[in-house]
Amino acid sequence: MSLLNFMSRALTNLLSKPATINYPAEPREYTERTRGHVENDMDKCILCGLCQMKCPTGAITVNKQDRTWSIRPFSCIQCRSCVDQCPKKSLSMERHYQEPGVKKIEKTFELSDAQKEFLDAQAKAQAEKIAAAKAAQTAKAAGSGGN
Ligand code: SF4
Ligand code: SF4
Repeated sequence: MSLLNFMSRALTNLLSKPATINYPAEPREYTERTRGHVENDMDKCILCGLCQMKCPTGAITVNKQDRTWSIRPFSCIQCRSCVDQCPKKSLSMERHYQEPGVKKIEKTFELSDAQKEFLDAQAKAQAEKIAAAKAAQTAKAAGSGGN
């Protein structure tokens, strides 16, 4: 490298911005498509269990009895399968990574009160529909038996 080239490179480097950031004083900006960690909006989840079935590492547990949704972040490989399969779009892949830790934690979330009420009303309507269908069937059978 000639002296002129060297001087030119040195001057450019002196006047340009550093290629690295002053982390952690300056927070890192993650790209739009960063696969950080999975979050669930418990106002939308219907506890259908599809995400649990589709997770290749078994990181998700859906407990219909307790009305909770859990994830073991250290088992998650950020494949995004659960996010893509969720029928209610309640799952999202946040751009920030899970906080580092020394314990393999499990994070559990309970359905919101509004969502519990919504699912209860839905179950009640479904039960009433089935009961009405059964009653109609019984009445029909009784009617045809009398002929
Ligand atoms: S997060 Fe989505 S796929 Fe998983 S249980 Fe809830 S609604 Fe179903
Ligand atoms: S991103 Fe993949 S590994 Fe992580 S919880 Fe969802 S399905 Fe499981």
